[in-house]
Amino acid sequence: MADFAYVPCPNCRREFMVGEEFFRIAEAYCQCPYCAFEFRVGAAAEQRPPVKPA
Ligand SMILES: [Zn+2]
Repeated sequence: MADFAYVPCPNCRREFMVGEEFFRIAEAYCQCPYCAFEFRVGAAAEQRPPVKPA
């Protein structure tokens, strides 16, 4: 059973793995390993409109 999920970075659009527990936290932040951008994942993030590329 997978304990992780892929999330796309809204800044550089690359996907990386985060622990599945992130998605059970209402306001969890994770940091992109590629560009160091911090963004929200989890329940709160699903209520946010998708980020358009700059
Ligand atoms: Zn990134």
